Amino acid sequence: MAAWRSFLSHLECTACGLRHDADRLQTVCTACGKVLYARYDLDGVRQALRPEDLARRRWDMWRYWELLPVRSAANVVSLGEGLTPLVEVRRDTARALGLERGSVLLKDEGQNPTASFKARGLSAAVSRARELGARSIALPSAGNAGSAAAAYAAAAGLQAHVAMPRDVPEANRVEARMYGAEVTLVDGLISDAGRLIREQAPRNGWFDVSTLKEPYRQEGKKTMGIELAEQGGWGEACLPDVIVYPTGGGTGIVGMRKAFDELEAVGWIGSKRPSMVVVQAEGCAPIVRAFQSGQRYAQPWENASTSAAGLRVPVAIGDYLILDAVRDSGGTALAVSEDAIHDAQLEMGRLAGIYAAPEAAATWAATYALRREGFLQGDERIVLFCTGMGLKYPPPTAAD
Ligand SMILES: *Cc1c(COP(=O)(O)O)cnc(C)c1O
Repeated sequence: MAAWRSFLSHLECTACGLRHDADRLQTVCTACGKVLYARYDLDGVRQALRPEDLARRRWDMWRYWELLPVRSAANVVSLGEGLTPLVEVRRDTARALGLERGSVLLKDEGQNPTASFKARGLSAAVSRARELGARSIALPSAGNAGSAAAAYAAAAGLQAHVAMPRDVPEANRVEARMYGAEVTLVDGLISDAGRLIREQAPRNGWFDVSTLKEPYRQEGKKTMGIELAEQGGWGEACLPDVIVYPTGGGTGIVGMRKAFDELEAVGWIGSKRPSMVVVQAEGCAPIVRAFQSGQRYAQPWENASTSAAGLRVPVAIGDYLILDAVRDSGGTALAVSEDAIHDAQLEMGRLAGIYAAPEAAATWAATYALRREGFLQGDERIVLFCTGMGLKYPPPTAAD
């Protein structure tokens, strides 16, 4: 069995290209303040590993350790994240969604620890923070990130400080406290919570793991892309035609795009890429607006409001990375209404057997619109990202 070895080489700024040492705690680029990417010795990975070697490895996202940032297996903080099912919906349901000749697959991320895909990012970030000597972490959260950060910090023996809007789903608040985090409730949105963390973290010596302001949460989330390739059997045709993703900070879109580029460089997939589709809520759609108006950066969204807590993100530091991923892949971006999210949540329950979070239901609602508007032809293989479990949210009316 191969020994643990990360091929992490350095950090690189996505805007100005400046290199940073990967083996000390870093947040954003020290020169321009933009997002840092972890870079790997991909030739080394290509020589060290074949995809077949993965078969005998541990059953969580850390099986891809060559392409993850943690140097020593002893520093991994794991609760069993990743390797989530790819569930195909029934033919008649796919047909009703407009995929008459295609297929609809649900990547059920609600089966992660703390019931959302935030587990992946925070497993990676907390592991690496601990490896590099952090004693405590801090972050703003629209909901699920706070739960996951608190759980992984608890498992790591670190203190977590979480700032959340006062009106986050109750379960997120309860969970964060259950896991021993210090929770501060903020009047306002995740951006206001972010301001609080930015002020307090340096003063108190907390390491700030805000998404994309820290280089490793996206490394955890990129494992969703690696898994799609593994679940599709690697090679030229392993990836779906379209990925539909409920986008807040965009960490998953950015991470999966990065994963596909790395997998092509190590020779495990071809050059074909899924079209990336950003879905947001009509009450908070800064990325959709920027996409439609041809901009590379998004303007902050005023008075953001939606029941899909994870989409209530008025400003994304990685806006340019999300928009590049969508445009380079021939994707699109669209917003769905609260009514459409509500109806989709009930429909997914009844037709697919999955009680999805409202964010995830937004992808189901978006599928109808994508077909109606002709973005989908009806013969594609599409993956909807079911990013979290519905039980954590107030029940949709008619379900309680
Ligand atoms: C955080 C979150 C999102 C948005 O994820 P990003 O990768 O930050 O865009 C979507 N759905 C759920 C359930 C979330 O918790």
